Amino acid sequence: MADTDQLRRFLFEHSPVRGYLVRLNASWRATIEHHAYPTVVRDALGEAMAATALLAGTMKFEGRLTLQIQGAGPLHLLVTQCTESFALRGVARYRGDVPTGTLAEITGEGRVTVTIESADQDTRYQGVVPLIGQGLAEGLQEYFALSEQVPTRLWLAADGDQAAGLLLQKLPTGSSASAEDDLGARAEAEDLWERVSLLAATLTPAELLGWSDTEVLQRLFHEEDVRHFEPVPVSFRCACSRARTSSMLRALGEAETLDIIAKEGEVTVTCEFCNRAYRFDAVDVAALFSEVPLPGDRQLH
Ligand SMILES: [Zn+2]
Repeated sequence: MADTDQLRRFLFEHSPVRGYLVRLNASWRATIEHHAYPTVVRDALGEAMAATALLAGTMKFEGRLTLQIQGAGPLHLLVTQCTESFALRGVARYRGDVPTGTLAEITGEGRVTVTIESADQDTRYQGVVPLIGQGLAEGLQEYFALSEQVPTRLWLAADGDQAAGLLLQKLPTGSSASAEDDLGARAEAEDLWERVSLLAATLTPAELLGWSDTEVLQRLFHEEDVRHFEPVPVSFRCACSRARTSSMLRALGEAETLDIIAKEGEVTVTCEFCNRAYRFDAVDVAALFSEVPLPGDRQLH
């Protein structure tokens, strides 16, 4: 049985090169079960989900990390999120027939935005890279080079059953006692980085999806000294709630909400991520716009 719904860190001993492997199985199927995505959109979303978990693995944060891809092409919006405890969700929006092509092609040379927000939304960090004639992995490599200044390589793959990703990163080398030692260590790290990057580039999407973590690491890097860490579980979990939906309706405004009530008898807001439906009748809506706070409003931030 292959590894499921997990993120595993590994490192090359005595070197600044580290990596992560992610596999999404049940969490990925839960993400797409209520959507009839065309294959090309589905796979792009799966790759983005895997990438988001990998990004969350490499960065220290408390709150959530959002990957957003926006463009003028047929696949015009892709949003994936991961919390510090690796709860994932994601959604894609497209119009018309989406042709096969690179992510840059199907999003119309979109841009990738990575946002990290603290749980209390007090701090926010954002980085943007354009997708020019390339896929998400290449776009994110650019992102790491520009925003983090850490050489990073990524490989991503997805199908209807699972999404997977491999990330390699070369961290800055620490300084040792002498300049000569430093020079030697740096050259050695550079050699290892080049070597493992080339080896990882031979991995096909089918192998990335089909092999277990141990198989990937053994078959690719059997001549290297690789240390595997215990994997952490990743899951599908949506952060939507009735309270958040209420505040969305408040933002929409009383007139507009009452208008929907007049026409439909109730307001139904369906979460795009998990397909959960939140229903508000005339009484709920009246309470929503009165001064009296709703019972669920206390958790609102
Ligand atoms: Zn939801």
